[in-house]
This record gives sequence, structure tokens and C-alpha cells, in this order.
Amino acid sequence: MSNIASIKKTKEIMEYFNLNTKKAFGQNFIIDSNIINNIVKKAGLDKDTNVIEIGPGIGALSQFLARECHQLLCIEIDQRLEEVLKYSLSEFTNIKVIFDDFLKIDISKIVKEYFNDNRRLVVVANLPYYITTPILIKLFETSHETKISSIYAMMQKEVGLRLNAHINTKEYNSLSILTNYYTDTKIVMKIPKAIFIPQPQVDSVVVEFIFKNNEYQLLDKELFFNLIRLMFSQRRKTILNNLNNIINDKEATIKILTDLKLNVQLRPENLSIDNYIALSNYLKEHKYYD
Ligand code: SAM
Repeated sequence: MSNIASIKKTKEIMEYFNLNTKKAFGQNFIIDSNIINNIVKKAGLDKDTNVIEIGPGIGALSQFLARECHQLLCIEIDQRLEEVLKYSLSEFTNIKVIFDDFLKIDISKIVKEYFNDNRRLVVVANLPYYITTPILIKLFETSHETKISSIYAMMQKEVGLRLNAHINTKEYNSLSILTNYYTDTKIVMKIPKAIFIPQPQVDSVVVEFIFKNNEYQLLDKELFFNLIRLMFSQRRKTILNNLNNIINDKEATIKILTDLKLNVQLRPENLSIDNYIALSNYLKEHKYYD
């Protein structure tokens, strides 16, 4: 089939299947083949790379991915798209589509079942914007099992900026730290809203996430993630206030921060990932958290 990513072809397929886009599933289909080509190039695909695509829609991106990669596994929530994808991707023998909610499936098990070779595994997706963060968190947290090496994900511009935010900026938050813990990230493309049907309200970006061989010496991951979430839950307050909400002893809290050479007047956005790791390890070592 010719490229699905054009206004003409997309409309033709949607009319043929009497399909309307579902807002509840974050459906904005790409209609620009050049943009897709660039995304696929950024992902550096070849026949030694397997790919997972979350949300194939009517197959515009999937078609380009399948042409370049070894095996493509798509996970799509919308059952209505089953007959559409069967038609639009019929020429490919290297695609499998699972119809399920990505947030509910056991992705580690599926990866083990489907990709039983040692090829590089990457995720490429135009994400449903309403669940961008939970999808990324799931990919991060299962990465030690799935061995995914990188993610190329299209998302709302503001979310992309937050994920890439630097210390001491207003965008820097617990998600920036979480992302930085697992991956090296970079915004690799800016995407105008005009290249989608229907057109979303906001511009998008493509973010590259390359998983790190984790070098951080973290004693308790759960404590660390709870800590950053709690510290940023009141980002205008000082770290003294926020930490004291966890410790419930002001003198002890001052001692912890002083021992770590952290000024009590700092705000959560003034602490680096290394500062949070040191703080988390201190709480673990001094048995503030079991
Ligand atoms: N890849 C297509 C494209 O670029 O034209 C469609 C992208 S559209 C922004 C997001 C896709 O994710 C839709 O097909 C939608 O049905 C699917 N989706 C939404 N929620 C999902 C979920 N929880 N699990 C899997 N797919 C989901």
C-alpha cells in the first residue's frame, strides 16, 4: 500500500471503514510522511532492531517501522482498528498487533514471548497524550526486564520540556528526576500541530530516551521515588518544610540537611539528582525508612 500518512489516504481509509477518531483514546493520526521518515531515521532502525509501537492507530507510523525493522509489535487499545490494521498493514509479515490497554498488559512477559532473540529493542510511538506519563513510567520501571535500549516518543511539547528540564527551572520536577535516573534524554524534533487529523490544541515534540547502565548507588529505589514525589508535592515550600513533613521532627530534619551540606532554605527544584540520591541514602542508612 502507498503511504497511509497523507490527508487523502487517511480520509479514504477512515471513510471506507466508517471510522471516526476517538478523543477518549487520544487519537490524532499523523498525515505527514516526511515527519515519519525523520522519526524513523532518528531511531536508527535496521534489520537487527526490533520495535514496539504503542498505539498504531490506522498504521501510518507502523508501515514505516515495519519496512525498516526486523519485527514490529504493536499494542492498540481500540478494538475497532482490528479490521483497519488487517487491511492497511496486510502486506507485512513482520508485524504482530495485540489489542489491549498498554497500561494493563505484562510488557516484560510479552517481550520475552515475542522477542526471543538478542536484537536491539526500541519503542517508537506517537503517544496518546492523556497517558504519556504513565506509559513512560511503565517503560522505565520495566526496563531492567524488557532490556529496551531506547524510546522515541512523540508527546505534547510541555511534557517533553518537563522531562528534559534542568535543575533550578520551573519545569524541573519529580518526573524530570525520574527520567534522568533511567535515561539520557534529548528533544530531537519539533512537530507542528497541523500534521495531525484531527488537529490537537498544542504543538508536539519527539523525545529520545537512551537507557543508562545505571551508575547511581541507590540503597532503596522505592524510598527515592517516594521522596522526590513528596518533596515536589509542595514545590514552593523549602526543603526543610517538605522534609519535615516526612520526618516529623524539625531538629532532626535540620541535622539531616546540615550533614548533607544542603541549605535549609533551598526549594525542591534547587536539588540535583545526586542531592536526592544522597538524601534518600541518608534516610535509609539512619533508619528513617525501612
Ligand atoms: N500511531 C498513530 C499515528 O501516529 O497516526 C496513532 C497515534 S494516536 C496519537 C494514539 C494511539 O494510541 C491511538 O491509536 C489510540 O487508540 C492508542 N491508545 C490510546 N490509549 C491506549 C492504551 N492505553 N494502550 C494502547 N493504545 C492506546
